[in-house]
Amino acid sequence: MATYSATGINVGSFNLGESDKIVTIFTAERGLVRAVAKGARKPGSKIAGRAEPLNVNKLLLSTGRSLDIISQAEGIETFPKLRSDLVRLSYALYYAELTQHFGPGLAEENEVYFDFLRDALRRQAEQDADPAWLGLRFEFGLLDLLGYRPELTYCIICRKPLMDASLGAFHQDWGGIVCKVCMNNGQNDLAQSGDNHSPSGFTIRTAREITPLVWRHLILAADEKIPGNHLSGKTAKPSIKQSLTAARRILQGYIEHRAGKHMKSLDLVADFEDL
Ligand SMILES: [Zn+2]
Repeated sequence: MATYSATGINVGSFNLGESDKIVTIFTAERGLVRAVAKGARKPGSKIAGRAEPLNVNKLLLSTGRSLDIISQAEGIETFPKLRSDLVRLSYALYYAELTQHFGPGLAEENEVYFDFLRDALRRQAEQDADPAWLGLRFEFGLLDLLGYRPELTYCIICRKPLMDASLGAFHQDWGGIVCKVCMNNGQNDLAQSGDNHSPSGFTIRTAREITPLVWRHLILAADEKIPGNHLSGKTAKPSIKQSLTAARRILQGYIEHRAGKHMKSLDLVADFEDL
């Protein structure tokens, strides 16, 4: 049996048989890998801890007929601080869920994405920046790597530069912001044609209204040079937190639209935010 070594982050798992697990791992060398962790559900087994989600391991894998098998795993990083904070943990699991979904499309960028994901987990675990802000940064980074960066500066229909007063809505199908004039034109066309897909109109259901504050969060988060520490969880005003949440939901909606599915990891966080 051929063997190979890899360094990987666990991004998902499910049970196999009585005592094994199949672990999905994002590796720096080969991107997404699925491998069997034998005995991972036996209490006290060494591999059990290594197979936990979000752990980073140095691995030795054997290639099997259909699935590879983990023959050795050496723990490198476990992010203990993530495990004691439900909101931060939910974000970290969201990163893992996104990685499972978009991992196959990142094949050319394995090493870059591996570093990006590990750094994002470290930040979520170690920094006291707002977890939603860090989540927003992660979403932009992922969209950049996938080549799906949304347009935030110009209206995606008329190409006029956007200003506070001209903001209309974020349009998921088209991946950017539509100005007020174009949004109204689209709505009129829609009302006249009664058709959700009229050529010059657009599907209102996939457009989300955007306010200047929400817009600013998106622009700041899209700029890698801004650290974002101004949004510390303790000091931010409620209105800022609300608009940050709105900004993140816009981007999450866009990502889910691209993915064609709902990401479940943040449902719990959304319940808190709605309180
Ligand atoms: Zn426009």
